[in-house]
Amino acid sequence: MQKEGKGINPFEIAQRQVDIVKPYLDVDPGILEKFKTTRRELTVHFPVKMDDGSIKMFTGYRIQHNDTRGPFKGGIRYHPDVDIDEVRALAMWMTWKSAVANIPFGGAKGGIACDPKKMSKSEIERMTRRFTWEISMLIGPEVDIPAPDVYTNPQVMAWIMDTYSIFKGYAVPGVVTGKPLELGGSLGRFEATGKGVVISTQNACKQLGIPLEGAKVAIQGCGNVGGIAAIYFERLGAKIIAISDSKGGLYNQDGLDIKAALDCKTKYFCLLSDKVTKSEPISNKELLELDCDILVPAALESQITKENANNIKAKLIVEGANGPTTPEADEILYEAGKFVVPDILANAGGVIVSYFEWVQNLQELLWSEEEVANRLENILTRSFKEVYTISEEKKVNMRTAAYILAIGRVAKASKLRGLYP
Ligand code: NAD
Repeated sequence: MQKEGKGINPFEIAQRQVDIVKPYLDVDPGILEKFKTTRRELTVHFPVKMDDGSIKMFTGYRIQHNDTRGPFKGGIRYHPDVDIDEVRALAMWMTWKSAVANIPFGGAKGGIACDPKKMSKSEIERMTRRFTWEISMLIGPEVDIPAPDVYTNPQVMAWIMDTYSIFKGYAVPGVVTGKPLELGGSLGRFEATGKGVVISTQNACKQLGIPLEGAKVAIQGCGNVGGIAAIYFERLGAKIIAISDSKGGLYNQDGLDIKAALDCKTKYFCLLSDKVTKSEPISNKELLELDCDILVPAALESQITKENANNIKAKLIVEGANGPTTPEADEILYEAGKFVVPDILANAGGVIVSYFEWVQNLQELLWSEEEVANRLENILTRSFKEVYTISEEKKVNMRTAAYILAIGRVAKASKLRGLYP
C-alpha cells in the first residue's frame, strides 16, 4: 500500500529494514515476523467543539509495537499527514531506538491528523484532552508513556497529564514525559534530542577525523530537534550554513546567525531572509543538496530518497528526524562512501532523557542538569561505540549495525520471556 500523497509508505520501509538484517541474526523467523507487525492499534474518531461553535471530527491513533523489554514508549504527533502507517512505522522505530540505547522501554507512537497551525490554543487543548480520554485505556506510567513529537510540546504534555490525572483522581506525572519542569519534567529533557544529535555528530566526527569546529552544517527543520541542534553546533564552533522550516529556509555559506534566525521564526512563524542579516532564501530541496560537511535532516520522514541521494554532498549525515532516508537512498549513500548516523541512534537523546524523567517521577527524585547531561552523553557515546563496532565487524552501514544490535536485544529478551501459552 502506498502512502497517499507522499508515494512512500513508512511502515513498508520499517518492515524492510527488519528484513535487511535477517541474514545477520540467529533469530527464529517467526519472531522476526512478529517484530514486523504491531501489537495493538487503536484508531479513534472524536468530536471537538471549535471556537466558532461548530463541531469538527478528528481521527487519532495510539499504536503499540512491542513491550518485551519494558513499557511502551513514544511521542504524539499533530500533523495533517498523520495516518495509520506513519504511526505504525514510528512505533516500530521507537522499539529499536530504546533497544539501541539499552533503556528498558518498548515502542509506541500516537498522532492526530490535524493542522495545529490553523487551530487556536484552546482548540488544541480541547482536542488534546478529548484524545487523551479516547486513548486513556491504553496509556499509563507502567504501560505506555507518550511524549512530544512534531507540533506537540510541553504544554500539550501538561494537558495530557492533567486529563489523565483527573480521571484517576490523583496526580500521575509519570504518564507522559517532556512535561514542563513545574509538573515533574526533567531538567535537560526539552533540549535532549537536539543536544543528543550534536553528541552523536561529535562521536561520528571523532571516528571520521572531521573537525567539528569550522565544519559547514546544513539543518532541515528548526523545531525542537533542528533548532536546538543548531544552537549546540554553533556553540561548538560549527558554521550553520542553512536551516529551514516547512516553507523553506535561510542560507549563508559563511554561517548564519542562528539566534537571529530562530528569533525570526518565533516572531513571524517563518524564516524570512529580509529579517535575518546576510541570509538568502533557500528551498528544502536545495538545502539537502548543499555543499557542506554535515547534513542534519530534522523534519519529517522520506526526505532523502533515490531521487536526490546521488546529489547529497555532505560526508556525514546525522538523522535528527525519524525515517528521513529510504532504504534505496541508504544504499546509494553507502556506495558513495557517506557516513550516516541512523535515526534510532542519532536522535535517541529524547527517549533517553524521557527515561530519566520517568525514573525521577516514579521515585520522586530530582536530578541536576549536570547529572542528566552526563548520563545522556555516556549512554549515547556507549551506544555509538557498540553500533560502530558491529558495523566494522560485519562490514555493514551504521543503520544495519544499529538494527543488528537493537533487534538482537529485543529477540534475546523475547526468547527469555517465551511465548504464551
Ligand atoms: P517540531 O514540531 O518541534 O519541529 C518540526 C520542524 O520541521 C519545524 O521546524 C517545521 O517547520 C519543520 N517541517 C515540517 N514540515 C516540513 C517539511 N515538509 N519540510 C521541511 N521542514 C518541515 O518537531 P520536532 O520535535 O523537532 O521533530 C522533528 C523530527 O524529529 C521528527 O521526525 C520527529 O519524529 C523527530 N524526533 C523528535 C524527538 C523529540 O524529542 N521532539 C525525538 C526523536 C525524534
